[in-house]
Amino acid sequence: MPPKPEVIRRQLSVHLARTCNLYCEYCQAPPDGGCQGRAEIKAAIKKGGYTAVSLEGGGEPTTAPDLFEWIAFLKSCGIKSFMLSTNAVALADPALARRLRFIHSFIVNFPACDERTYKKVTRSVKFPLALKGLENLRALGLAGRVRLFHIISAHNYTRLPAFADWVAKSYPEAGFVNFIFMRNVGRAASSRENLLPTYTRAMPRLKIALAKLKLKGIKCVIQNTPLCVLGSFRGFSFELQRWRRGDPVLPHNAAPKAKLPACAKCRLEPACCGARPDYLAVHGSRELSAQDLDPASIKPEAF
Ligand code: SF4
Repeated sequence: MPPKPEVIRRQLSVHLARTCNLYCEYCQAPPDGGCQGRAEIKAAIKKGGYTAVSLEGGGEPTTAPDLFEWIAFLKSCGIKSFMLSTNAVALADPALARRLRFIHSFIVNFPACDERTYKKVTRSVKFPLALKGLENLRALGLAGRVRLFHIISAHNYTRLPAFADWVAKSYPEAGFVNFIFMRNVGRAASSRENLLPTYTRAMPRLKIALAKLKLKGIKCVIQNTPLCVLGSFRGFSFELQRWRRGDPVLPHNAAPKAKLPACAKCRLEPACCGARPDYLAVHGSRELSAQDLDPASIKPEAF
């Protein structure tokens, strides 16, 4: 049995993907054919003293023809721990999944638990391959290293409870389920459809999904959703968890919070992701309200 992954706090993002095998409607960073240079990465590793990296990029890292050359290079730079951000489609190949069994943590973008929704969100017919990728990881004893990332958009928010049921039934060994409210940037911003649901519309289903997973003992969080709209589900907030352990609420490369009068008066502000300008541009700030509550008094869920 492989050891359970420990939490890694400091890792360098290595953008090595140049393209993707899906075409997700909400993609924040669509591939542009480029990737980072090795000299740049080597210098960053040395400067930051990194021993862990996250393999990612504008696109899908497993499509990079030089993926294993990159890995060998990173190991030669002293990297000991690897996280892979993937959609799991390429992992349907058992030989590839086996070669990647040293990966410490698989961040699997899995936007649907049924073929129809998956097709709508990813504009692909690769749902069976993505499922097979997850199954291959399980067959290798790696399901506990999988973190399922489920980005909430107009096409899947009504299916959030169904997604939670599916995880509990079909992949309960997953180390983590991370719901993320989509951002209206990148490919989403140029879509002719409005892909961004309001918080108000999504919250009832999101809360049911979080409660279902909690009852099954499966760790889950919600990211990029203000604390004031989460109500009594604030303890599931990813950013609250970051604040509690002393990390910046938003990662250093994240877009800043919008400056709003409600947030300026709110006691939860230090621990809240706030709303982003791209959300406010579509739906405004009516749903947000200042809270008179000490963030330290919020009990975190399942951690
Ligand atoms: S009012 Fe602003 S700071 Fe307060 S919980 Fe809402 S979004 Fe967060």
